[in-house]
Amino acid sequence: MAQKENLNLKRESIFKKAKKELKDEIYSYNKKYMDFLDESKTERLFSKNAIKEAEKKGFRPLDSFSTLKAGDKVYSQVKNKALILFVIGEESIENGLNIVASHIDSPRLDLKPQPLYESDDIAYFKTHYYGGIKKYQWVTQPLALYGTVVKKDGKVINIAIGEKEHQPVFCISDLLVHLAAKQMQKKANEVVTGENLNLIVGSIPVEDDKVKTAVKEAILKELQKKYDITEADFESAEFEAVPASKARDVGFDSSMVGAYAQDDRVCSYAALEAILKVEETPKRTACIILADKEEIGSYGNTGLQSRFFENELAEICVLLGVENSELSLRRALKNSACLSADVTGAFDPSFPDVFDKTNSSYLGQGVAINKYGGSRGKSGSNDAHPEFLAKLRDCLDSEDVAWQTGELGKVDVGGGGTVAFMLANYGMDVVDCGTPVLSMHSPFELTSKADTYMTYKAYLAFLSKFD
Ligand code: MN
Ligand code: MN
Repeated sequence: MAQKENLNLKRESIFKKAKKELKDEIYSYNKKYMDFLDESKTERLFSKNAIKEAEKKGFRPLDSFSTLKAGDKVYSQVKNKALILFVIGEESIENGLNIVASHIDSPRLDLKPQPLYESDDIAYFKTHYYGGIKKYQWVTQPLALYGTVVKKDGKVINIAIGEKEHQPVFCISDLLVHLAAKQMQKKANEVVTGENLNLIVGSIPVEDDKVKTAVKEAILKELQKKYDITEADFESAEFEAVPASKARDVGFDSSMVGAYAQDDRVCSYAALEAILKVEETPKRTACIILADKEEIGSYGNTGLQSRFFENELAEICVLLGVENSELSLRRALKNSACLSADVTGAFDPSFPDVFDKTNSSYLGQGVAINKYGGSRGKSGSNDAHPEFLAKLRDCLDSEDVAWQTGELGKVDVGGGGTVAFMLANYGMDVVDCGTPVLSMHSPFELTSKADTYMTYKAYLAFLSKFD
């Protein structure tokens, strides 16, 4: 508790009075964060790289344990995508876990199952966008392509093109402004349609006059030669086109991070770093969930509407040797506390109309807690209880975490959902707590380095100290 409580709530940029030591920490944290982003452009890669870091810190796969005890560090990966990490606490699992739940999927352009076609001597890949995007933001952008192809015999071929300097990129064309008079009259959501989002992938035809679609033929030959894949192999593959750019410092003062997919890899990275820093055996079991499919409603067996987390926790209960594992599982879930670790929209001074200035989160003022989200009268929201929020305030303040509250926009202007309510379904206390972002879901999302760092500090405080 504070010795003398302030009458007014004070909000200001963390950078304003940050000592050199804190600034150094902020900048070195963000350097690592940005490098990690560049290496983790898909949920598969994020998951894989997270495991690499976790193993360095002594985490081992769940199925390698025959029993579990306090202090054990465990991870469990689901379908090469979702990932859960645990540090087993001293207390009985029935007392609940401290959970930070984020998502590692991000808006992007997926290839359709049969993507390749040719039109007027240009070869294209058809795409189907994933998650909520403003489609016009994705044209005339260098895009990289990541693919996982599984052949009928089970052989897995991983493809990544467009990130290295010497590699080609792909792109989607837009209408030249000289002929766009009619297009410019359209509504923004019609300017570029979903079926316009066709990736240009080549333009050299094969020499054979008998082949009708000679550029397509040339691309297929190339794909076979380079990757040993045929057109039919696209049927058991997934390809994601993502911005080919690297994370960049933004501003004269380099105080911000500009990068693709900070929603929600900024919170996912913070959660990962936090659980890797839980050094001593915590009182309550610490857990982070890096979920998939959040951007399309958390469906599927790697999304949090499924039981993948519950299934892994059931295994943990059994390995801990509890008497009644089903009952222990229920109690563990019910007594848990959870931060739904997802980004929120920061107040954007260029578009002030949609925000309530007194209830927005601001760039540079710390990690943001959103008591509720949803839309049209909090609908679809997990509205967190003050009893839980009070304990959280105390925990964050005791650990010198700079945090703020906020709401996503003015009442009835829009809204958004997170995984918060799905975890609350188990009976645990949940609140949204994540980094404020400008230009969310765009190819170049913007965060404050102070906020990304405070997000990590908040998760570390919560995982190791919340009680
Ligand atoms: Mn998100
Ligand atoms: Mn999102």
